[in-house]
Amino acid sequence: MMTVTIRARIAAAVMAASVAVACERGEPVKTAPAMTLALVDGHIWTGDPSRPEAEAVAIAGDRIAAVGTTDDIRKVAGAAETIDLHGQFVTPGFVDSHVHFLEGGFRLTSVHLRDAKTREEFVSRIQQFAATAPKGTWITGGDWDHTLWGGDLPRRDWIDAVTPDHPVWVNRLDGHMALANTAALRAAGVGDSSADVAGGEVERDANGHVTGLLKDNAMDLVTARMPAPSAEQNDRALDAAMKYVAEQGVTAVHHMGTWDDLDVFERAWRAGRLTTRIQAAVPLATWERLAQTVASRRFGADGHGDLWLRVGVLKGFVDGSLGSHTAAFVEPFTDASHDRGLFVTPPDDLYKWISGADRAGLYVAVHAIGDRAVGAILDIFERVEREDGPRDRRFRIEHAQHLRPADIPRFQHLNVIASMQPYHAIDDGRWAERIIGPVRIRTTYAFRSLLDAGARLAFGSDWYVAPPTPLEGIYAAVTRRTLDDKHPGGWVPGEKITVDAALRAYTSGGAYASFREHDAGTIAPGMLADLTVIDRDLRAIAPEQIRDAHIVRTIVGGNTVFARR
Ligand SMILES: [Zn+2]
Repeated sequence: MMTVTIRARIAAAVMAASVAVACERGEPVKTAPAMTLALVDGHIWTGDPSRPEAEAVAIAGDRIAAVGTTDDIRKVAGAAETIDLHGQFVTPGFVDSHVHFLEGGFRLTSVHLRDAKTREEFVSRIQQFAATAPKGTWITGGDWDHTLWGGDLPRRDWIDAVTPDHPVWVNRLDGHMALANTAALRAAGVGDSSADVAGGEVERDANGHVTGLLKDNAMDLVTARMPAPSAEQNDRALDAAMKYVAEQGVTAVHHMGTWDDLDVFERAWRAGRLTTRIQAAVPLATWERLAQTVASRRFGADGHGDLWLRVGVLKGFVDGSLGSHTAAFVEPFTDASHDRGLFVTPPDDLYKWISGADRAGLYVAVHAIGDRAVGAILDIFERVEREDGPRDRRFRIEHAQHLRPADIPRFQHLNVIASMQPYHAIDDGRWAERIIGPVRIRTTYAFRSLLDAGARLAFGSDWYVAPPTPLEGIYAAVTRRTLDDKHPGGWVPGEKITVDAALRAYTSGGAYASFREHDAGTIAPGMLADLTVIDRDLRAIAPEQIRDAHIVRTIVGGNTVFARR
């Protein structure tokens, strides 16, 4: 991986800025040696309304110096390395606006259960992985999906016999429930006499014995007692995550995580080792600690980091997930008439924390999936804005999956960003109607309605929950064809959006959501040289072929961090 020192980055930025100014004035460019890389003969989707299309781009250091025709750019490129794209497609670097980056990195090297289609496969994969792991080490991750084998939730007695020497703690792919084997329950001190947990559930069988399955807040019973990964393990996970997302064309991520995660990012940041730009959110309940951290200038002069690592953002939760029936709805679930989901955080606490964070000049993103949860958090955002007065606060709702029609225009009125993950739509679209019925699905993953109402979208993946692959996300938003291919014309087709709109949500939308729109998200002189090269023009192919496109090259800050061989 190529890295440059922070000092070199600053020097390059200064040079690039002067070149960019010269180009804009139309003066001959005399500082040609500053050019470091040129891409010519491509189809460049700039995202810049003043010049939406171009053939070529020149880079000086970590910034874009010039955008234009191939002839223009060849003239200014001088001795810079010049890559002929042969008509390939270029977009601003993709921003994944919702990831769990280190958990994703850890999963790259752990047991894979996501596509286990039978109970036997689930068990044998865990057994095989255990055979490769030193005795006593925890086996985590997994991302199983019980709907693939008919819907039976896994139990510890499925795997106890094959994992006597390893505590196992493997989660459902949505992260809202996980299975512990008996060794893990013992290590965590969880047993039949363990009490239930507010906002969570310890599942028990008909005889009152714990099955090993823990939901939502009850998962803390185990995670709180798990040994923390070592610094070296964390660094390895970060490196794996950065390499993997670069292969998907991603140049920046918005990470939703912990203070421990922030330490890992900070270590890489100080060492100049980051190759993905990271905005790192920490838990909303810890807003006072974040306010102190920003004030301490641990992350630079303004306390909020720089273009590689941004801090000052908090992430909270209103409810759970649709798949676990823990998302909060106004009306009961269609398949569980006694149940309308739950709030995992009391609204009074959310209000108190958000209000405090807002007054401290911090930024807030809150997970809300069910329509009752989305309505509740919009109410809180509205109240805080009314009480604290105007400010460029850019509140975010993470997921915003199920909306009451009346809440859709509120995103624009309150300038609340809908941070959504289109891949979830074609995944959930297989079974969501069973849970919420035919009416509520009409305003589920309502991309089109939100855009028509003037709302801003920021797209992402929710990796590790879903693959961090913007091409699949764009495919999902444009086609809404469910993963089981049962909706060839699109699931709730009225909510499909154009390729252009999906590209914006993956580029400038993400940049705006992290206050980076003056540095990233479009291809224009002076912007960061974060670029994604794709083997075909996504606008020129049939929508269903978008997921067959390949990332060819990923450039971050002028450096190629991935090139397809
Ligand atoms: Zn998430």
